[in-house]
Amino acid sequence: MPTLTDNQQLPNSSTLPCKADAKRSLFGIDIDNLRMQDAVDTLRQWVGEDEGCRFVVTPNVDHAVLLQENQPLRDAYEDAHMVLADGHPIVWASRLLKQPLPERVAGSELVPALFDSYDQSEELTVFLLGAAPGVAQTAAKNMEAQWPNIKTVGIYSPPMGFEKDDAQCDIILQRISACKPDVVVVGLGAPKQELWVHRHFQSIDAKVALCVGATIDFLAGEKKRAPLWMQKNGLEWMHRMCSEPKRLVKRYAKDAWIFPQLVLKQLSTK
Ligand code: UDP
Repeated sequence: MPTLTDNQQLPNSSTLPCKADAKRSLFGIDIDNLRMQDAVDTLRQWVGEDEGCRFVVTPNVDHAVLLQENQPLRDAYEDAHMVLADGHPIVWASRLLKQPLPERVAGSELVPALFDSYDQSEELTVFLLGAAPGVAQTAAKNMEAQWPNIKTVGIYSPPMGFEKDDAQCDIILQRISACKPDVVVVGLGAPKQELWVHRHFQSIDAKVALCVGATIDFLAGEKKRAPLWMQKNGLEWMHRMCSEPKRLVKRYAKDAWIFPQLVLKQLSTK
């Protein structure tokens, strides 16, 4: 199976229809200086082109912390075609560090915003990769009700450990190839989704792959987003932590300890 090698020429974010200086360098991540609308416009442009599969990552505080000790994740972020700030703390830190980002562009909001941007006369085809068995089916049903012109052409919930199994990875790529969607919504959790997409994007038969965590769960109504006031005040993490304490308390405690250190470190090197 073709995978990325050092000497392969990568299309990169210079393909973004935005200014060449439009990157903000924060904690070792080059984040695109884009608003939600810019991101949606760019994705629509990519869907209309024939340039192979481009992929999008959406760093939040946890990713910024993970990436410090994870070179493969750092490589995935470097090669991503679009890097969007998914989290108010990232945007706040960008302003403190005089690398201002215009707004938060959360992956879970980008997907519905992209769907909303297509009017009834336009069709967009989508493949949902990830989430627990059955969840993507519910998401597809909800999507059909809300966006009849957005067609879910394929769904796959890979089994645990699939990423270490070449045969499983081939199955995923073949399933995507069989329906050639415009967009693959990848909801496998971080850093699994970024590492998998980075390893395979040149074999993904789609225009765009969006690494967007729990978005399929949100589309299915399986997980609930935080109330708007919490989202607006940067408290979505608290809502998620209360919904899944076992999984998230330890993670967020580590993030709360390390992330300010990353900000201070960058502040002191200015
Ligand atoms: N998931 C999956 N396969 C895996 C691991 C996770 O489909 O091997 C899905 C899981 O069911 C959920 C999503 O990935 O839908 C997790 O997204 P979330 O953003 O909550 O994960 P995080 O990045 O916060 O760990």
